[in-house]
Amino acid sequence: KIINIAIDGPAAAGKSTISRRVAGRLNYMYIDTGAMYRSVTLYALNHGTEQMFDNLNRIDIRFKNEDSGNQRVLLNNEDVTEAIRSKEVTANVSKVASYEAVRTYLVNMQQQLADEKGIVMDGRDVGTTVLPDAELKIFMQASPKVRAERRLIEERERGNQVDLETLTKQIMERDEFDMSREISPLVQAEDAFLLDTSEMTIEEVESCIIKLALE
Ligand code: C5P
Repeated sequence: KIINIAIDGPAAAGKSTISRRVAGRLNYMYIDTGAMYRSVTLYALNHGTEQMFDNLNRIDIRFKNEDSGNQRVLLNNEDVTEAIRSKEVTANVSKVASYEAVRTYLVNMQQQLADEKGIVMDGRDVGTTVLPDAELKIFMQASPKVRAERRLIEERERGNQVDLETLTKQIMERDEFDMSREISPLVQAEDAFLLDTSEMTIEEVESCIIKLALE
């Protein structure tokens, strides 16, 4: 049985960690739509917003799976896996993601990627806009405190010096921007399961979703 799984939710709720694991378990493809918005943002930061709009249809984004299970992100053939996690990209991505032309272009690309086989796709508007017919939709939540703490660990692992207070503020600002934009804002799809992971381990969240997928 092949199904498409949409996992949406606010920043740092654990979507990508879980999506990657669920995809691995089911032998599905994992698509990180946030990485796509981040890639376009990196392009805009490097070349300017005007050139980003002019060349939008030539911005090529690919995912490359490594044997280790890790996924690399290629922007016009350049490996940007680390670069798209920079502070600058994070600070600008919500703005870039609010442009209609950017969303139209990426949503189309995401729908084409989803055409072939079972996929797990995570983002903000997957269940509402990208894959409205996905067989399983999850809206993943966690308390602001838990999300900031999880992100803090990630950032420190990447060697970034940040404090909890700044991270909390950034996460809340990004969520608010994403929830209040005009085009496909961050909102729970009507037919999505709400999953609050604040008190759950990664393993618990993973098996909960696998169970729902195989039901
Ligand atoms: O998931 P991630 O935190 O990497 O997403 C970065 C940003 O990209 C989000 O804050 C949001 O502004 C935008 N995004 C979006 N729609 C998606 C995925 C991400 O607007 N499907």
